[in-house]
Amino acid sequence: MAVPRLSVDRPFTYLLKDEHDAGTGSLVSVPFHGRTVRGWILGPATDPPSARLLPVRRVFGDVRFFDPAMLRLLRWVGERYVAPLTTVIERSHPPRVAGEESLAAQEPAAVPERSGSAVDVTEDGVAVADLLASARVTWLRPLPQQEAQACLAVVEGCVASGLAALVIVPEADPLPETARAVMEAFGHRAVLFAGGDSRERYRTWLDIRAGAYRVVVGTRPAVFAPVAGLGVVWISRENHPGQREDRAPYYHVRDVAVARARIGGAACVLASLCPSAETAAGVRHGTIATAHPQRGVERSAAPLVETAPPEAEDRSNRLTQLLKTARSAVLILSRRGYGIARVCRSCGEPAACAACRGPIVVEQRRPTCRVCGTAGVCAVCGASDFGIERGGTERIAEWASRASSLWVENRATEDAPPGPASNALVVGTAATVKEVGPLRLDLVAILDPDRALARPGLHSAEQSVATWMEAAAWAGPKADGGRVLLQTRQPGHPAIQAVIRWDPMPFLAGEAKRRAEAGFPPGHPIFRIEGAGDLDQSLRTAGAATVLATSSAAPGPGETPREGRTVCLVSVSPERFDPFRLAVLRLANEGAVTRVEAEPHL
Ligand SMILES: [Zn+2]
Ligand SMILES: [Zn+2]
Repeated sequence: MAVPRLSVDRPFTYLLKDEHDAGTGSLVSVPFHGRTVRGWILGPATDPPSARLLPVRRVFGDVRFFDPAMLRLLRWVGERYVAPLTTVIERSHPPRVAGEESLAAQEPAAVPERSGSAVDVTEDGVAVADLLASARVTWLRPLPQQEAQACLAVVEGCVASGLAALVIVPEADPLPETARAVMEAFGHRAVLFAGGDSRERYRTWLDIRAGAYRVVVGTRPAVFAPVAGLGVVWISRENHPGQREDRAPYYHVRDVAVARARIGGAACVLASLCPSAETAAGVRHGTIATAHPQRGVERSAAPLVETAPPEAEDRSNRLTQLLKTARSAVLILSRRGYGIARVCRSCGEPAACAACRGPIVVEQRRPTCRVCGTAGVCAVCGASDFGIERGGTERIAEWASRASSLWVENRATEDAPPGPASNALVVGTAATVKEVGPLRLDLVAILDPDRALARPGLHSAEQSVATWMEAAAWAGPKADGGRVLLQTRQPGHPAIQAVIRWDPMPFLAGEAKRRAEAGFPPGHPIFRIEGAGDLDQSLRTAGAATVLATSSAAPGPGETPREGRTVCLVSVSPERFDPFRLAVLRLANEGAVTRVEAEPHL
């Protein structure tokens, strides 16, 4: 039933008349509490109620939106993220555009046989057959800038054995090199399932369903693409924040891909230079296999990394020195803009936004509130002239254009092209670090890693290390003469050592320990659950291992005032997850749980 509430998240039984050509996955409308509501056929009722059944009113078109195997995956997603099945079904395909259905191919398009021969090992020396073993999940650490080649070898091997492949990248614009290379190599046998208007998206989805493609490349929604005979799901940069869906059911592509592979007997490859703490934990516990390039090969591919303490405004003498000879460089900062307003020049009070009291930053010469985005005006006297603590991408770009003879571009602005450049000095942020294909820079400098490491957040350190490693790869292997500079006061920090030693695993083991101590170990589902006043107690009773509660007297929508309102951050051990989930559903039925968000950004 297309009613996205946990309290009605169960199947209802209706009578499907023989004249309807419908079955599992058909979109229908049915009478429901005096209204007509849309829903999907889940299958024949195993235990039909004895009372008189109401008939299905209407069947919409011939398209089946899922088959029994896909339904198993969708149910898994609904359970894992405690989301109504209807929400999961709606997010698993583009919205229906009825006009496109009449144009759909009646017969699956003929797929020509592949030409050329599949390779046995990737360029890194990893056996393709191992990566394609049925239901096996492998973390692959490709050589720097070699992910596209490794992916091509695996997809070739998969297609050569008569199966289909899914390649998921974390972003669509610009199209990452792995996606671009696969699209180019497979031509009309591959389709890009990302972006486009609603007609195009639905059209593409129908064509995939009709079997028109052997390879589907796309962003997160493509993890549900209706490809038959799936042999492998490749998740590119599995640690990237873009791999997590930001709205209900808040799924993570990595988890869904692993589940899909296990349900369908396909292989799953999680590719990353620095894996997520979750993937690293899976490797330690033996649930995820590893496929490193051969050790010697990997060591010789590592870049030359050095550290120097930062001086004023995120610069250092060592940076100035390296910039004198570099013919290409990228400087990565965690702060955009020109600086932070510290004090009001009119009244002398500390600078704070008049609208929201947030910090004021100077970007493109204008003081702007970092929190609410309004023009920065002193909260005390209304003036807009501030004493500035300089630092940020704009200030560094200004300085670098004097310190270097290179063309300098600040690519941390809204309208700048993303990514680095081979013939310039680019200043950017983590958002500048894209998968752009083979690129060789003389200098990659991470200017304020200590500030990035000081940021709160469960995943912030591991994502910083992943970004630094991806950027560091642009310096090329040691033998090439490219250099990586980390401006840090803590060269012994495990995150910094991960980049220097080109081995993230000890750092990630430490992260897992730190998270376990905080009550949120990797691999244990996390939820933000909102509801009535005593929710925290109910969730502890339900089996949650960690419950951090914030209560307020003000009731949320639909709650009675006397109960107040509580928001809980909850972690559950996998062994106790099923009873916990059922308890949350019961609480939702009773109105004590009003909202559930899985894997929130913490
Ligand atoms: Zn503000
Ligand atoms: Zn003032």
